Amino acid sequence: MADFTYENPFGKPEEPSFMTVNHDPECIFCKIASGEIKVELAYDDEHVAAFNDINPQAPHHLLIIPKKHIPRVGDIGEEDAHLLQAINRAAVELARKLGVFDEGYRLVINSGDNGGQTVYHLHCHFLAGRFMRWPPG
Ligand code: AMP
Ligand code: ZN
Repeated sequence: MADFTYENPFGKPEEPSFMTVNHDPECIFCKIASGEIKVELAYDDEHVAAFNDINPQAPHHLLIIPKKHIPRVGDIGEEDAHLLQAINRAAVELARKLGVFDEGYRLVINSGDNGGQTVYHLHCHFLAGRFMRWPPG
């Protein structure tokens, strides 16, 4: 699916509002979260940011990432439990802004190699704009 646009309809600033903690200088998503790599942010708050996936699998395909470097979802500790709520809050805001809250969307977190994870900085895929089949491949 190569014909999706990368326009940012959100009018948000490109600079993230916070630097990452637990920053991994080799991590691509830490670089995005810290502003070292500049991308248009569709959502940005104290804890998480969202931006378009570079290889979209749906008309709307964004990644919601914590600003803290956490490799896998299973690595979230008690002290970071609020990050799952922050991710959901971001997803709801994105869904409402994109006008897909009622028609639906899919949130996916891949974990580990068998889970299909390729970037080891926790991220939640936000997919919308088409019917999502089940089961996943
Ligand atoms: P996963 O396979 O669940 O680890 O997902 C990683 C996702 O990150 C893939 O969908 C990639 O297309 C996406 N991705 C990798 N590098 C970038 C980047 N620089 N900007 C945006 N998305 C990226
Ligand atoms: Zn990272």
